[in-house]
Amino acid sequence: MSYHAPLRDMRFVLHELFDISGHCQQLGNGLDRELIDGVLEEAARYAGEVVAPLNRHSDEQGCSLNAGAVITPDGFPAAYQQFVDNGWASMTGPVEFGGQGLPQLLACNFHEMLMGASLSFRVYSGLTEGAVLALHKHGSAELKQAYLAKMVSGQWTGTMCLTEPQAGTDLALLRTRAEPQADGSYQISGSKIFISGGEQDLTENIIHLVLARLPDAPAGVKGISLLLVPKFIANPDGSLGARNALSCGAIEHKMGIKGASTCVMNFDGATGWLIGEANQGLAGMFTMMNDARFQVGLQGLGIGEAAFQGALRYARERLQSRALSGAAEPQKAADPIINHPDVRRMLLTQKTLVEGSRMLAAYCARQLDLEHGAADAPVRKAAGTRAALLIPIIKAFFTDMGQEVASLGVQVYGGHGFIREWGMEQLMRDSRITQLYEGTNGIQALDYIRRKLLGDGGSELSALQAEFSQLCDQQAQRPVLAELAHAMRARLSEWRELSSEVIAMSQRDVQEIGATSVDFLQYSAYVLLAGCWLQAAARAQDALEAGSGEAAFYQAKLHSATFYLRRVLPRASGHREALLGGAACLMALPEAHFAF
Ligand SMILES: Cc1cc2nc3c(=O)[nH]c(=O)nc-3n(C[C@H](O)[C@H](O)[C@H](O)COP(=O)(O)OP(=O)(O)OC[C@H]3O[C@@H](n4cnc5c(N)ncnc54)[C@H](O)[C@@H]3O)c2cc1C
Repeated sequence: MSYHAPLRDMRFVLHELFDISGHCQQLGNGLDRELIDGVLEEAARYAGEVVAPLNRHSDEQGCSLNAGAVITPDGFPAAYQQFVDNGWASMTGPVEFGGQGLPQLLACNFHEMLMGASLSFRVYSGLTEGAVLALHKHGSAELKQAYLAKMVSGQWTGTMCLTEPQAGTDLALLRTRAEPQADGSYQISGSKIFISGGEQDLTENIIHLVLARLPDAPAGVKGISLLLVPKFIANPDGSLGARNALSCGAIEHKMGIKGASTCVMNFDGATGWLIGEANQGLAGMFTMMNDARFQVGLQGLGIGEAAFQGALRYARERLQSRALSGAAEPQKAADPIINHPDVRRMLLTQKTLVEGSRMLAAYCARQLDLEHGAADAPVRKAAGTRAALLIPIIKAFFTDMGQEVASLGVQVYGGHGFIREWGMEQLMRDSRITQLYEGTNGIQALDYIRRKLLGDGGSELSALQAEFSQLCDQQAQRPVLAELAHAMRARLSEWRELSSEVIAMSQRDVQEIGATSVDFLQYSAYVLLAGCWLQAAARAQDALEAGSGEAAFYQAKLHSATFYLRRVLPRASGHREALLGGAACLMALPEAHFAF
């Protein structure tokens, strides 16, 4: 399946909604519009011409394991080499370690493109950026000196080693041990499962970030430490040293992302070093996980875009039946299926969910940039709090959305969607994992309610809602935007009431935290996307009033916003009603009575 980066829409989001040039100036980075567009075009070429052609074959060939060595699909090593040589790996890396320090607001578009071109291929590099962040923020000067530059350049990749057979969501159960050695290092012993890119043939070294317990560690999550455990131990100057005592014992056979290796990793007294303080490993891991969760959200977005592109192409070509209103193309045997209202419903649902999510991703990326790069400490802190609120929403909603949009892609193709050759079924299989890893979407929803809503009594959420209220006030007087602005204003006041109600319900009965969480997250996401669509519509109207030469593009934004308002946003009401249904009906049925 071909993939073409949605460059016009990306430029709309970056330049017209988020003023990326001004953003770069605020960060002290002198990127101008020409350079930004140049990067986007080169990125689109790499994703579309180098990576996308590998996707189908990688699904069929998969990975193989030969005497502990993983062989990745044909073409992956060469494409990865280009990824390093052309500087794609180092886009966001810290400048003092050879990175380019480019903003997430720009990089997230490249990452979306990669996910849309081949999720399997992106998995190998995806966790390295988070590992770099964790090491940069929490690691010792010696570790940074020895490892960071080559991780930043992409010459070495990073992994995230959390999961064990008995410890998935519940990290308190993990058993991997780290024994202190006289020289300050640790010996790591234990087995990790499901490690993405744990072994591969793309790079000469792999740097594992491993969660383990020290001998005297307290029980539970307060006794977990984070260690850097390399495949090859680096010499102080960063050159390759001795092979470490760790190996890949097996690779998994999976439903999707078959080109990405998912490894059982055995640590047999491997040498490692603490990142951060003993027993404080979760702090470092959260730095990595925050980035990884945002990236997984982008996976849903990238796959959604790819599915929309395929469905749109097919709907324009496939001739079946006449349009209800009479022949649209009488010279043909039948009309293209894009003329049927139900096919339009599917395409517009795909389009508005994907484009709406792209705007929300950019909003969050901007906050992430400010959190790490703003000059003022209060700005950094405020941006970090805002990003933390949004990340579970982005991870869970975008990946549910990606799966829905991929499924709609199959549906638009009819029976052909179920057949391998068209690529739609692969997108559906590939996107399914995104709802599971990096914390299942159920766990994201718990994080959203427990840590983000109840954690501060709802004050950060109120601040976000106030920001969108202001937008409604600004736009409600414009006739073209009035319907959208009034609907958004009504939803905002409903959302405020619902937030208070969820807090009250959770205080009355702790089970309500888990009972309301998924519906509250979904409700929040649909309303947030409505806010993004209002902003897009406002910008489109500005451009039309200014006599833009791209009237069709901006009119399409207005039509899409109206579709979202009338046909997608009403889903929020269903989530509201469901969550108000409460916990009692979930917990009343005795466990023994689930089936007779
Ligand atoms: C292809 C693939 C790649 C992966 N890559 C990595 C990787 O690179 N590194 C790594 O460390 N791990 C990785 N994982 C592991 C992944 O992160 C876990 O599978 C995931 O976090 C869920 O853990 P689990 O599978 O043990 O499910 P469980 O934790 O057993 O969960 C089972 C179900 O119970 C629910 N559940 C559990 N606890 C709660 C709760 N408290 N409240 C409500 N519901 C709950 C879950 O939401 C889920 O629906 C990968 C997994 C796969 C399949």
